[in-house]
Amino acid sequence: MTFRENANIGAGRASRGGGGSGGLAVGGGLGALVLALVVMLLGGDPGAILGGQEPTTSNAQNVDLAECRTGADANENIDCRMKATMLSLEDYWTAAYPSAQPADAILFSGGVNTGCGQASSAVGPFYCPVDRHIYLDTAFFQQLEGQLGGDGGSFSQMYVLGHEYGHHIQNYTGALKASQQDAQGPESGAVRVELQADCFAGAWAGNATQTKDADGNLLLEPLSREDIESALSAASAVGDDSIQEKMQGQVTPHTWTHGSSEQRMGWFMRGYESADPNQCDVLNASSVNDY
Ligand SMILES: [Zn+2]
Repeated sequence: MTFRENANIGAGRASRGGGGSGGLAVGGGLGALVLALVVMLLGGDPGAILGGQEPTTSNAQNVDLAECRTGADANENIDCRMKATMLSLEDYWTAAYPSAQPADAILFSGGVNTGCGQASSAVGPFYCPVDRHIYLDTAFFQQLEGQLGGDGGSFSQMYVLGHEYGHHIQNYTGALKASQQDAQGPESGAVRVELQADCFAGAWAGNATQTKDADGNLLLEPLSREDIESALSAASAVGDDSIQEKMQGQVTPHTWTHGSSEQRMGWFMRGYESADPNQCDVLNASSVNDY
């Protein structure tokens, strides 16, 4: 899934094409997005930035999102792509699940201090339920792009954001708790939480491909099944998505089985084809194979 070259990602509000409920816009409310580049220099004194619960921004560099205007910008520049994707996710979920506050995405390199403790880039992309931020390390994204290249790399990055935003929604619905209460086994709550996040990513993507920009043009090129298959397999091969929680003052990364590739694909496609997050009730499905 890539942005259409002329799509307007910089200004105005978009509306979803084809009627239907649930708005999705890309472009409005730039101020709501915090896409900070947090760099912890290796060899520096980490104590200086490890004090609080919130990610430290004293050495953070805000990406200049005002330079991101068109789909071509989003296709060429990873920061613009993340900006446009976060705006799209935020607008989609604000309409689809209004009680959830928008999530922030933090792009970091080397290491970062989070509400869940300190994380290194070895952790991969993750969602911290304590501070409600999505953490993405730039090396992971470069690795994805290197593996798939071009359009494939772009969609796999967008899918990762969509999946992590899905965990953010689960933080509000209460579904995240299932992963802690039932953490093991192929039909466990943990696996179901991961598959639901894939389905949520699909529901967002299904809406995003129907969304028009402020000028009435479609924002995104349509996705093929091959695009989705390669992006999901690359993202799960490269990264070991995890949710971190703070336990006894230490960071304890909980890495779970995410279900098989077929199950992940199945639930993503269920969300994508229905474009309806209500179709993503993996937690109450009689089997994780009921996609
Ligand atoms: Zn996950």
